[in-house]
Amino acid sequence: MCGVFGIWGHPEAAKLTYLGLHALQHRGQEAAGIVAAGGEGERFLRHLGRGHVADIFSNDALETLVGDRAIGHVRYSTAGGSALQNTQPIVVDTMRGAVAVAHNGNLVDAMQVRGDLEREGAIFSTQSDTEVIVHLLARARAPRVQDRLRSAVAGVRGAYTLLVMTKDAIIGVRDPQGFRPLVIGKVGDAYVLASETCVLDLIEAELVREVEPGEMVTIDKRGITSERLVHDPNPKQRACIFELVYFARPDSVIFDRSVYEARFEMGRQLARESAISADLVIPVPDSGVAAAIGFAEEAKIPFRHGLLRSHYVGRTFIEPEQSIRHFGVKLKLSAVRSVLKGKRVIVVDDSIVRGTTSRKIVKMLRGAGATEVHMRISSPPTKFPCLWGIDTPTRAELIASSHSIDEIAKYITADSLAYLSLEGLHRSVQDRTDAARKFCNTCFTGEVPHEMPEDEKLVQLGAR
Ligand code: AMP
Repeated sequence: MCGVFGIWGHPEAAKLTYLGLHALQHRGQEAAGIVAAGGEGERFLRHLGRGHVADIFSNDALETLVGDRAIGHVRYSTAGGSALQNTQPIVVDTMRGAVAVAHNGNLVDAMQVRGDLEREGAIFSTQSDTEVIVHLLARARAPRVQDRLRSAVAGVRGAYTLLVMTKDAIIGVRDPQGFRPLVIGKVGDAYVLASETCVLDLIEAELVREVEPGEMVTIDKRGITSERLVHDPNPKQRACIFELVYFARPDSVIFDRSVYEARFEMGRQLARESAISADLVIPVPDSGVAAAIGFAEEAKIPFRHGLLRSHYVGRTFIEPEQSIRHFGVKLKLSAVRSVLKGKRVIVVDDSIVRGTTSRKIVKMLRGAGATEVHMRISSPPTKFPCLWGIDTPTRAELIASSHSIDEIAKYITADSLAYLSLEGLHRSVQDRTDAARKFCNTCFTGEVPHEMPEDEKLVQLGAR
């Protein structure tokens, strides 16, 4: 979970990067950074911080980021923890000049490659798997940076959407399987690269197209050029289906699909599979809204906002000394008694991870007078951790990895519980379920779309 943004050839590059990161805030709230270049002396200027984009970058800080090009990153620590030293973009000086790197995705073999590099004398200054790519890049010998980058990523496996800035260019890369999204936009004469299209709407850029899986695009003073990372005649695409289920913003179009429409369709499909007689359909805001609307429409049951979400929950709050039950979730969600009283409700959410939120929501709805609570989930049971960068807990903490649907229903105290089928999910995003499918579903199936030794697969999935 992370977001990236880059812009080339704009007098206010750092400010637009700031806005871009703001629109990508949902992809990571832990830390953010911007590196600008192209000003006097060609120096790379960087500003980083922990927390939210709006708090990290003051006007004064942005004024120092001089130059007509910049890349930025919002971080949600997956590999590497939350220390400031792991904040990106990473900047290093190499024999051929300064390089800045921002990465979204997770490398599955970062520790092994890091170990190999350390044995050869490399010194690492962060815990982030991105630094592995930086080392490989600095060691590569080809004269063109694109070729050095190609050889660097040939040495790693996993998910990587990368932005690399040198003094001459910004390069955007999507790994050959295309796990994480990356789009190209244009604002005036300047090209931008961003994780999601919602960024383009904010900065009034037009969408040019998506960067393809296995594609490397270069933006420089000549404009934009494209080349392939590897020449594979049969590339196996594996875009992350969970981006469409939960992670991306609903107003974005990624993987050539509207995120909102995909979620709406998941809700409709879920209703076809598991509608039940009830008075109301209510969403868990915000993650369940689009699917709940689709569900209500298909099931022909009225849609109501039975839960409201507070937009003002900060990172820290003062807890009352006398314990208030379910305090955390009450700060975030509140039940609308007048909607719920005496009603049989279907609650739609996108996923159950540990089960603790659903359990509290069911209690809250009953407390507000709902007579029946039927939970419907617009994706299949999340049974496996993500290896490719979505922040899911270990397998042991995923309730569906060790409990049946009946057991989960009992735990969350719902009158009934149903999940969207795997086939229904793939159908909702116009995908197939056989080997020709285009989406990764490891979190639901444990199938790993990489050629990974069986032993390693078990360890990575937490089964050993
Ligand atoms: P839990 O209480 O652990 O079952 O959390 C379930 C809630 O977390 C659902 O409302 C999801 O929308 C949300 N969710 C799903 N995946 C993630 C994730 N990777 N990070 C944060 N929240 C998530």
